[in-house]
Amino acid sequence: MTASIEIQNVSKRYGAVTVLDGLSLSIKANEFMVFLGPSGCGKSTLLRMIAGLESVDEGTISINGERIDTLPPGQRDIAMVFQSYALYPHMTVADNMAFGLRNISLAPEIISERIAEAARMLEIGHLLERKPGQLSGGQRQRVAIGRAIVKEPKAFLFDEPLSNLDAALRVRTRVELAQLRNRVKSTMIFVTHDQIEAMTLADRIVVMNNRKIEQIGTPMEIYSRPASRFVATFVGSPTMNFLSVTLKETNGFLSANLPDGTELRTAIRAASVKPGDHTLGIRAEAVKPANGAGPTTSGTVDVLERLGDRTLLYVRLKDGSVIVAEDAGSSRAAIGDEVALVLDGQRSHLFDAEGRAFNPEEAEHG
Ligand code: ADP
Ligand code: MG
Repeated sequence: MTASIEIQNVSKRYGAVTVLDGLSLSIKANEFMVFLGPSGCGKSTLLRMIAGLESVDEGTISINGERIDTLPPGQRDIAMVFQSYALYPHMTVADNMAFGLRNISLAPEIISERIAEAARMLEIGHLLERKPGQLSGGQRQRVAIGRAIVKEPKAFLFDEPLSNLDAALRVRTRVELAQLRNRVKSTMIFVTHDQIEAMTLADRIVVMNNRKIEQIGTPMEIYSRPASRFVATFVGSPTMNFLSVTLKETNGFLSANLPDGTELRTAIRAASVKPGDHTLGIRAEAVKPANGAGPTTSGTVDVLERLGDRTLLYVRLKDGSVIVAEDAGSSRAAIGDEVALVLDGQRSHLFDAEGRAFNPEEAEHG
């Protein structure tokens, strides 16, 4: 069973405080949608409104074309997995999974079948007779997911389900979730503040900030064509470099002059850009130590981060601004070195004074 979900013009207030302001969003059947944004931006609130745990102040939520925001949670056919697991401590794993199904008087054989199937999928068959207190965090999380799976809901909602796991287990569980997703054909909405979880799991990401949706797109659209400076900052590590620039036109495209006078040709059409103050954004992977031709700038290595597969150089330019460049893992650079840098202007982004992006042409971007 699966479902498309339509959110139209939804707002939410707590007293005088508006936490969501006129959000609209369509989720396709079987889509894995991730709500990504900083803590407090309203991700959980939106998820809880879909589940029916919070009321909707304005707007509508529909599943398969039928309005559900007026229905009690139990009639929405949605299963939610919480960060806190929310298992019943006095019940065994099997009883935790069976509980909701017994409540709707499903036949015992069917309940056993579903539990066996979920236990097989999640590899928790050997834990069925234990109580939650006898499980590790990762095992509890699987049971919580199992309890959702046995309901065979139209949609799964996950609220930061990996947050309570330690780093190694988090990565493993993330991979398992990706595998699970391929076995369970259902619509899934996953809330996280972690951009790596969003990038690795999502079919599409909804980037939220400040009561609003900043951008909706596939992980690579969000990464390659961020719609705003906020998105460009929030997604990608290290965070994008920003430089104030002056612009001029060259053959229909913009050239940007960096504060030290370096000229960069961009893939952004001049016609798309209005006059005003602009900031150029460029990721570290498009800034490399120069070994040959190309427009270069230079500066002094302030900080060096060795990540094994690559090395990040924090380079202080002549005007005092710092730009992060990417070098090979085996970089010979040392703190205090003077380095020349090549900036790939074709992979640069431009933002207006309000932080809205003028993105490069798709074709130029590859
Ligand atoms: P997120 O999940 O993105 O971290 P939340 O949806 O939990 O954010 O919260 C969004 C905003 O709404 C926050 O500023 C939070 O303080 C506020 N908020 C959430 N729940 C309540 C509540 N029950 N009463 C008042 N304010 C709330
Ligand atoms: Mg939350």
